[in-house]
Formats: sequence, C-alpha cells, structure tokens
Amino acid sequence: MTKTVAILGSTGSVGTQALDVCRRLSIRVDALSCGRDVATVEKQIRAFSPRLVAVADEAAAKDLALRVADLKVKILSGREAAARLAEESEADTVVNAVSGIAGLRPTLATLKAGKRLALANKESLVTYGTAVMEEARKRSLPILPVDSEHSAIFQCLTGQKVKTIWLTASGGPFFGKSREEMKGITPADALAHPTWNMGSRITVDSATMMNKGFEVIEAVHLFGVTPEQVKVVVHRESIIHSMVEYIDNAVMAQMSRPDMRLCVQYALTYPERAEAVIPPLELTALSGLTFHEPDGESFPLLPLAYEAIHRGGVCPAAMNGADEEAVALFLGGRIGFTALSDLVSEVTLSMPSMPSPTLTDVEEADREARRLVRDKALS
Ligand code: MG
Repeated sequence: MTKTVAILGSTGSVGTQALDVCRRLSIRVDALSCGRDVATVEKQIRAFSPRLVAVADEAAAKDLALRVADLKVKILSGREAAARLAEESEADTVVNAVSGIAGLRPTLATLKAGKRLALANKESLVTYGTAVMEEARKRSLPILPVDSEHSAIFQCLTGQKVKTIWLTASGGPFFGKSREEMKGITPADALAHPTWNMGSRITVDSATMMNKGFEVIEAVHLFGVTPEQVKVVVHRESIIHSMVEYIDNAVMAQMSRPDMRLCVQYALTYPERAEAVIPPLELTALSGLTFHEPDGESFPLLPLAYEAIHRGGVCPAAMNGADEEAVALFLGGRIGFTALSDLVSEVTLSMPSMPSPTLTDVEEADREARRLVRDKALS
C-alpha cells in the first residue's frame, strides 16, 4: 500500500480527486506537478506541504516562486520538470494524471526510478505501450490503472483464461445520433457529458468515442490481450465500469457509482482495500442496466483505433497527436465536430508505419501528425 505519493497533473480533474483521496487516507504528498495553473497549485501546496513542485510553464513557475516565497518548497520548471520530479521524489507511488502525450516521459521516468505507477495518463500506453510495459516488466513493477474501465478490469481479473474484455462506454452525449445530425454540434454541446465529470479534452474524446478507442489500445497493452479480445459495449448508466469474460463464459463485472476517486483509491491501496471515500451504490434505486452495440459509422474514431493498433508502430501515437490537435482546434471554434473525426482519420491513415519505434520516432510522429492536422484544417 502507498505511504507517500507524487501527483503529476495535480490541478486537473483526476489530480484534484487524487488529492482528496490522499487527504482522506492520510497518504503523505511528497510532490505535485502542473502545467501552468499556479493559483490552484499554490492552494494545494498550502494544504498538503509537498517538498517538490514541478511547473511546466517557465513564466508560471517564476510566478509560483513569488507566491510561495514564505514556504520551504523546491520548484522545478520546464518541459522535463515532471519527469525529473518523478525521479527525485521520495514517493513510493507516482500518480500520473498528466493530460496528453506530455505524460509519456514522466511515465518512463517513474518506472526507471523503480517507483509504482498509478496511471491515469492513457497516452503513455497508446503512444508507446510496448516499451512502457517492457520497462515495468523488467523491474517487476505493477502498473496500477486509474482509468475507470481498466481499474474495473484489473479488479475483475481473477485468473488467466480470459476470453473477452468488455469495455463499457457511456456513449457520450450524442449516442443514437447520425453523422448528419452531429454536423452542427458546438464545443458547449460536446462538453456536456451525461455521467462523468472530466477535463475538456477527454470529454470531447468521449463525445467522439476516440476515448474508447484509446482505451481499447490501453487494455491491449495493460492486460496482454489481442485487439480482437477487447470489445466495446455501450452502457448508458455508467454503473458497470467494465467486465471480464472467461473461457467458461463466466462474466465478472465491477460496479460502483461513477466516481474516479474509487479508481485512484484502489490504485493507491492495492493490494489492500480501504474504507470508502465514495457513497455506496444503491441497487434498488437503479432503474435498470442497458447495453447496446457501438455505432462505428457515426463514431468512426472507434474503428480507427482498432486499425491503428493493427498497423502498430507509430500509428497509435500519430492518431493521438492528430486527435490532441484536432480537439484543440474544435474547442477553439476553428473546425466542426464531424471535421474533427475526419481529420484525425485522414492524418492517422496517411502516416507511414514503422515497426519497433524509439521514443524519438514516437515524438516525431506526434509532431508530424499535429502539423498535418493544422495544415489541413487551416488551409
Ligand atoms: Mg475511462
């Protein structure tokens, strides 16, 4: 069980919920990192007294140094600061809740430093999963999933003879709509998620189902199964967080209220369980649990993710880079909702495949995919 923790991406949705769990379980917070939200991180520093804080944005780091001049806290700054913090921290577990491919180097640094990794940054596995899993295996370190579906699967894995992993998807706010009906969707429409409260990129990714595609790839790496063994089922109520079906057709499901704090808590207390920080599930108050096939025509980024993992190499990294860029353009009002999916598909499929890529190859594919998306969107 975790005694001391470092939280990377502490000002985001998962980061703040992780701090809430630490406070309730009396886990010491040794280090925090953020991008540039120094007002929030200052409050966190005053509440949790970490020894180390990393701020990616240099100017924001200087601002923070002034704000906390009365405190004994070491501030690291720059793009590599979160990875350095993962290394330098005295934490036994690092929660990586950084958003986007920016979380990849901190993931590698955590594992190389021999620390347990509680992973909320799915891009680490989407972009460079084979290498990340190899780093963990070499050191016999568990990767503790914080993504709710993967936490559920992790909790349901009781044996080796897995037939199918059923990833549940809420379907997002546009479930049941045709492509035509989705043309006029605005950022405000896409940011209204029916069941989960999350950051803006992942909320848009849930609306396009790109998020579920990333999670398929994440599951393939985390649990060592084939893409064909990972199936998606739309479950609107977000009560079953995923399921594991064994060769004897027994299906294990993990159920709870949709609240990320349970996922963070289990990652931090594993292999133990601790008293609940979330309210109980009231079974008799549920009106029913429903299941539907996902619609690959209205949501083409889900089948695209299967294609990307089949192509392998840098293809999933290019898909992620294209998506990060396209989501930013959509949120900035530069492209429409269906154009977002079209651009990500087009750019992903145009990238050359490359077997056994290095970290440099992956980061290069990410940059190239972003450049292509910008060029195509703004031309
Ligand atoms: Mg998830």
